[in-house]
Amino acid sequence: MSQNPNRSRILIVDDDDTIRSLMKEFMTTLGYHCYTASGGLEALEILELHPVDVVITDIIMPGMDGLELTQQIKEKYDYEIIVMTGFAGEYSYEEVIQKGASDFVFKPVRYEELHLRLQRVLRERQMREKLERLAITDDLTKLYNARNFYIRLSAEIDRAVRYEHPLSLLLLDIDYFKDYNDTYGHLEGNTVLARLGELIRNCLRRLDSAYRYGGEEFTVILPETDGASAQHVARRLAKVISRESFSPTTQDDVKITVSIGIAQYRVGENMETFIKRADMAMYSSKEQGRNRITFLDANSN
Ligand SMILES: [Mg+2]
Repeated sequence: MSQNPNRSRILIVDDDDTIRSLMKEFMTTLGYHCYTASGGLEALEILELHPVDVVITDIIMPGMDGLELTQQIKEKYDYEIIVMTGFAGEYSYEEVIQKGASDFVFKPVRYEELHLRLQRVLRERQMREKLERLAITDDLTKLYNARNFYIRLSAEIDRAVRYEHPLSLLLLDIDYFKDYNDTYGHLEGNTVLARLGELIRNCLRRLDSAYRYGGEEFTVILPETDGASAQHVARRLAKVISRESFSPTTQDDVKITVSIGIAQYRVGENMETFIKRADMAMYSSKEQGRNRITFLDANSN
């Protein structure tokens, strides 16, 4: 969705040609991008092709009425809906809201009022999107957070089992990060974490997803990937990271390294065991002197 609320996309649905064209003119003047439809089915057809932010729909229409349309849109999309209803009390406020509408206005529509309600609905939508984004991302590294990691990994395990496709997990930990923090301070440490988040993101392939798992610990879920291919990804990551230098002070030019553990999913094991094996692989990299990659294949414990 666009950050500028006036760039938002609106679909106006009304069987009355005059109302439809007047509303479109008003909305377009305000800067909204407008689509129109003369009924429920046409509205659904437009939504198949064009995503929108808000649907403003009349309630009494031949064929599919506004309530049915609201329900059908809500089953399929996450769009806001404002319902226009007559004074006669055709439908109650409760009915309209229960179907999933965000708000409603009375007909004949006062445009200023509609504009205010539209702005409020859009503001709430943006706020909700922001909160959803914050709930799944780590602020510092811009990677997904640990909570999201468990949700996604669980879904990927289900998929791997169902389709009998390989799935690998990469666990990465920065070497001697405590020393770095103790020497240069936490702010400089945070710079390293943020930069690492960026480097990891740039190394991901289309289906991969990366997470900040703990303080200086990251995970990457690699769907459709066996252990051998996961090692390629890990080597590329380690190389990119080793090339990077940090300047925590004007005199210092510091390189960092990472220890990586890889596990390929073993059919039948639960998520905890899978993660534990990646963790053991990572610790094995640490024990062998750090700055290395360890792969535990599907049969090792
Ligand atoms: Mg009507």
